[in-house]
Amino acid sequence: MHIVCCIKQVPDTTQVKIDPETNTLIRSGVESICNPYDVVAVEAAVKLVEKYSGKITVITMGPPQADSALRECLSIGATDAVLLSDRAFAGADTLATSHTLASAVKKLSETEPVDLIICGKQAIDGDTAQTGPGVATRLGYNQFTYVSEILKVDAAKNTITVRREIEGGCQVIEGSLPALLSVELELGAPRYATLPELVRSLRQEVKVWGAKELGVPAETLGLKGSPTSVKQIFAPAPRKGGAPFDAAANKEQAVQGFLDTIFKNDSAILAEVLKSENKG
Ligand SMILES: Cc1cc2nc3c(=O)[nH]c(=O)nc-3n(C[C@H](O)[C@H](O)[C@H](O)COP(=O)(O)OP(=O)(O)OC[C@H]3O[C@@H](n4cnc5c(N)ncnc54)[C@H](O)[C@@H]3O)c2cc1C
Repeated sequence: MHIVCCIKQVPDTTQVKIDPETNTLIRSGVESICNPYDVVAVEAAVKLVEKYSGKITVITMGPPQADSALRECLSIGATDAVLLSDRAFAGADTLATSHTLASAVKKLSETEPVDLIICGKQAIDGDTAQTGPGVATRLGYNQFTYVSEILKVDAAKNTITVRREIEGGCQVIEGSLPALLSVELELGAPRYATLPELVRSLRQEVKVWGAKELGVPAETLGLKGSPTSVKQIFAPAPRKGGAPFDAAANKEQAVQGFLDTIFKNDSAILAEVLKSENKG
């Protein structure tokens, strides 16, 4: 089985700052990490290969420094890594990103057909959760989103069975390969790299492909291929907060004050709560 994991290098969100002039993320001096959902995707791929055998190619579209995110994935068990890096890819929205990633998967399939693509559910910076479904659509693969467990791969039937999270419950579904999964963190924590794997990850060649290698029309890539752009990014204004209730000074008064505040606009709710409390 040939599995491709799409991974994205993202700024560590706890440190994200926004340039008020340009409305873009300030990336300089901010530590970059591999998107946490994507490390979970790689771990899932490694477990599948341990069970069913095969290989894992990790790909990312990003600047040259995204090389370190790929090496992190190699250190926890990915077999090969490809960095899609070219000025022509810059400024991509999710449509252009999915075109570029899908083109890379097509190119990889020329030497070894790709059976499964695993993406994170979302990237913690862009947060759109559109890229995975976009890649599946461009390739005509089945897509399984919000996957929280991979239950079975049936090589004879060429199918995969997964559990996916839906509103108010979960769903177990089976579909044929090739397919793309976008995965939830619940799928499983990534393992720690062993020393030999760390050494291998640092020594291994990471292939770098640009627009020329992908051989796709320039109008589908980067800014040219992006019908959308981010006009403004801002943090919501901090909320002022209400009056404090000092339980240490007077517990009853604090509880009464709290209840009066939350129910002051809806005495019906308070009556309902008191009624059910009296019943209990
Ligand atoms: C704050 C912010 C807001 C943005 N808002 C929008 C927007 O509203 N609309 C829009 O079209 N673009 C938006 N973008 C641009 C967006 O970051 C890029 O299009 C990006 O390449 C993919 O979108 P995403 O980050 O939302 O990823 P998501 O779609 O959330 O990522 C899902 C998964 O796709 C894979 N993936 C995503 N990007 C890559 C990559 N470069 N290489 C390999 N795998 C990848 C990963 O597996 C990831 O877990 C925004 C960017 C930022 C920083």
